[in-house]
Amino acid sequence: MNQRRNSGRHFLQIPGPTNVPDRVLNAIQQPTIDHRGPGFRDLTADVLNGLGQVFQTRSKVVVFPSSGTGAWEAALVNTLSAGDRVLMYETGHFAQLWYGIAGRLGLDAQLLPGDWRHPVDSVAIGEALAKDVDHRIKAVCVVHNETSTGAMSDVAAVRAVIDETRHPALLMVDTISSLASMDFRHDEWGVDVTVGGSQKGLMLPPGLGFNAVSDKALAASLGANLPRAYWNWQDMLDANNNGFFPYTPATNLLYGLREALSMLLDEGLENVFERHRRLAEATRCAVAAWQLELLCLDSAARSHSLTAVQLPEGADADAFRATVLERFNMSLGNGLGRLAGRVFRIGHLGDFNDLMLIGTLGGVEMGLAASGIAYQRGGVTAAMDYLSG
Ligand SMILES: *Cc1c(COP(=O)(O)O)cnc(C)c1O
Repeated sequence: MNQRRNSGRHFLQIPGPTNVPDRVLNAIQQPTIDHRGPGFRDLTADVLNGLGQVFQTRSKVVVFPSSGTGAWEAALVNTLSAGDRVLMYETGHFAQLWYGIAGRLGLDAQLLPGDWRHPVDSVAIGEALAKDVDHRIKAVCVVHNETSTGAMSDVAAVRAVIDETRHPALLMVDTISSLASMDFRHDEWGVDVTVGGSQKGLMLPPGLGFNAVSDKALAASLGANLPRAYWNWQDMLDANNNGFFPYTPATNLLYGLREALSMLLDEGLENVFERHRRLAEATRCAVAAWQLELLCLDSAARSHSLTAVQLPEGADADAFRATVLERFNMSLGNGLGRLAGRVFRIGHLGDFNDLMLIGTLGGVEMGLAASGIAYQRGGVTAAMDYLSG
């Protein structure tokens, strides 16, 4: 048995779940209380108030005990009817999964093709909307930060093409790996349903899914006929109005959420976003020095929460990740879907700082050497130069 495996802290550098800070862990490990008792109202009020600030919205935010996938489903079943057309854009694996869910729910889902190396092409979305003269498209669904590729899309630009074509479709955005790491503005960008999850920028364990819901989405939900029970917004909103939930919420995760929200708001969202931008830029300095290839080809669209690196032809990214785990007790993200074995991903989001990044990049650089992958030394040095410059 390799002793290094058990000493020190594991480095969880996948792009979610992320490292959970001690303050959040300590908050979670309090006794569970009666979710219908008087003490619960304060907790509900605190988390809903803080979530509004993080989603940058005055609209309601709904909290489900679920994964992010559940929050995807909730967004669709609350607003749409059987056979409704939804327009999606293939940024990568997560966009493709959401598209698959829409199809399984009986929607007429259309996926604009992408090459998994670029963000959403809002011009292509505008063209599709312009052609849709009888307004069969009921929703446009995009992934803000495509976690499989590290490409971040311009949501305001998607809103702009919807407005330019005067199309009435709802705009739904998956922010599961961008919320609380990168700037996202539900209200200002005119988003109708924002989908979030607990285990990435919010620094919590997995287990909570979120929908921020515009008035227009709420109005659409009144006429929508897809079956919905567990995911019904109205049940949630009615109960939340009284300070409660319609069924047993994930009480201890809500304790953690209250703590995480107060950490984020104390730091200040602007500072949180700048911290992520800086650490992402340092990571890209390291990749450039290694002379490895970033998967995302659009330099303006590179994610601040993760970096996907494509290895040279013939190198096995999964074997590389296994070596890094075995030797340095660090988990890196794998290549998803068609990127399996070709790509590894460095998560640099959540409760994360300069020295954690340097440790992470040190593990990557030593792992490259140990795996016999062709690379140039000096990535960690380049990142340190950037961070101390
Ligand atoms: C992680 C992630 C998901 C899936 O979330 P689950 O909690 O695993 O269901 C969906 N979309 C994006 C962009 C993600 O990063």
